[in-house]
Amino acid sequence: MADDYKVKPRTDEEIRAIAKRQRKYFCVERQSLVDIRRCLMTPTVWTVFGEKSLSYKIVDDREIDVDGRAVYGDGSITVEIKSTVNDNAQFGFGRDRQTLAHELAHVTLHEGPTMSRQSGAVGNKIPKYLRPFESAEHQANWEQVSLRLLRSCIRSISRWRSQQ
Ligand SMILES: [Zn+2]
Repeated sequence: MADDYKVKPRTDEEIRAIAKRQRKYFCVERQSLVDIRRCLMTPTVWTVFGEKSLSYKIVDDREIDVDGRAVYGDGSITVEIKSTVNDNAQFGFGRDRQTLAHELAHVTLHEGPTMSRQSGAVGNKIPKYLRPFESAEHQANWEQVSLRLLRSCIRSISRWRSQQ
């Protein structure tokens, strides 16, 4: 989760197809319960820009101001996850597994905010100047859901939404 930025517009159907392809890459097409940590610990990942090398880095809570983020390098992507989020995800907390799924979605769909990052976006809220289909955060959230990585994750999203 990071500030939102403008990305290539994609329809929800397109994102669903991308999610399906990602599930296939990780050989979890038929699983209703997917260990996202294990996916993120795989040394390579399929992305819409081609296959890239992937690193999973657990960062001390005091050294990171977000729950997780994707750091884009040259042909490689590092997912940095706050230590407590990693621990909680391992123990099956829905919100923390959602964070991992969300970062995996960024890895799959985006190349990083360097091109068109705009300031003024806070958290992973979608600012008004971005239309949903070209918002990095919208796409990451949508793929997170359409991946259906975890039934419990989806249940916890709807529970969270109903409390808003
Ligand atoms: Zn995000």
